[in-house]
Amino acid sequence: MSTQTISYQIEDRLYLSITDHCTLVCEFCPKTQGVMQVHDFDLTVDHRPEFTEIVESIGDPAEYTQIVFCGFGEPTLRLKVLLEVAHWIKQRGGTIRINTDGLANLVHKHNVVPEMVGLIDELSISMNGQNEEVYNRHCQPQLEGSFEAMLDFLRAAAGRIPLVTATAIDGLDGVDIEACRRLTDECGVGFRARKLDIVG
Ligand code: SF4
Repeated sequence: MSTQTISYQIEDRLYLSITDHCTLVCEFCPKTQGVMQVHDFDLTVDHRPEFTEIVESIGDPAEYTQIVFCGFGEPTLRLKVLLEVAHWIKQRGGTIRINTDGLANLVHKHNVVPEMVGLIDELSISMNGQNEEVYNRHCQPQLEGSFEAMLDFLRAAAGRIPLVTATAIDGLDGVDIEACRRLTDECGVGFRARKLDIVG
């Protein structure tokens, strides 16, 4: 029997870890250093949980202020199951955020935002740099064109998803927080500088 952590609670929010894969290799990510611990939770993944296993681990969505797709991986890589679970949560009165790298449109080769409309309440998108050079240095994207694709995703989500916030890590070498903020303004989304201890 697997002991894999699929859901874990922090304060009044429930976090879902549905994959440990991503197309970035962020140098600041604990996973890149082989550490799979977030808060008190070990997010080591030994299998890809399917719909039933995920919703069983949630219980009653209405017990939480928000359900967050997060974890040491990119949840939109599993878009189909993510949307199925999001439907299930929504039907039960839950509120949903996705913490994402913003590369879903690049990976899936079409604009996935319309599939999220009416389901996803909030997107928190890791921007991580004000230009491609800084972004590539810190995120080491495996897919060409990732930085521009992330910006396009911000523009595609702006005004369609109720709350869209791009984030960058304050204090990371070369990251200009004010330049990031100006760029997100141009893309029509919000911005939040974050500390180095949060992944997703
Ligand atoms: S910070 Fe997120 S996107 Fe970057 S390597 Fe870690 S899990 Fe992947």
